[in-house]
Amino acid sequence: MNNSLAEENYLKALFHLRGKSGEVNVNDLSKNLNIKMPTVTSMMKKLAEKKLVYYEKYKPLRLTEKGKKEAGLIIRKHRLTEMFLVTKMQFGWEEVHDIAEQIEHIQSPIFFEKMDELLGHPTIDPHGSPIPDSIGNIATKSYPKLSNCKVGGKVKLAALLNTNSEFLKFLNSRELKLGLKITIKSIEPFDGSMEVSYGKRDSEVLSKIVCERLLVDGAPTA
Ligand SMILES: [Zn+2]
Repeated sequence: MNNSLAEENYLKALFHLRGKSGEVNVNDLSKNLNIKMPTVTSMMKKLAEKKLVYYEKYKPLRLTEKGKKEAGLIIRKHRLTEMFLVTKMQFGWEEVHDIAEQIEHIQSPIFFEKMDELLGHPTIDPHGSPIPDSIGNIATKSYPKLSNCKVGGKVKLAALLNTNSEFLKFLNSRELKLGLKITIKSIEPFDGSMEVSYGKRDSEVLSKIVCERLLVDGAPTA
């Protein structure tokens, strides 16, 4: 450990940006962090010296096993914090990200061990994203999108693809929360919007943009 706050943010960005191949384009990293290329490059050299990143000039970046675990540990602190804020401090799920961005950099393992204990060792955060374990391993579960489900399908809202606060506020306004059972009543062929029912709502129309961001469990996929 003992990485600076900036280094931790690079590791986290590399973790989130890597595709199935595990590779990240230096340009994409620069854009994502809004940091100029020369600065990004010199940081990559530093992280390569610490054996956290594979770095070669003109080639995509990759996290080493060690880098992946350290990124996993930062994400663990972030997601445990979000869970703590929602379940123990009654924050809304749309309010917790910015606070967690700060708390995730606290360098005190025992602080987060106690938090984990108080929460009863949760495996997912308030948005349904997996919480990495205490050595930084993350279990990835791939849920289908609601937009891929068929008419008549009964599914459970399991996680979200996008967790920005505007989207979360929208979900609040429609009383959509994790664990809710959703039935697909019809699909508009023109724009892919879905008529669904859930909770006390017998007929709610969700746009395709929304349905593509909702990840569901137990879905008969199209
Ligand atoms: Zn967050």
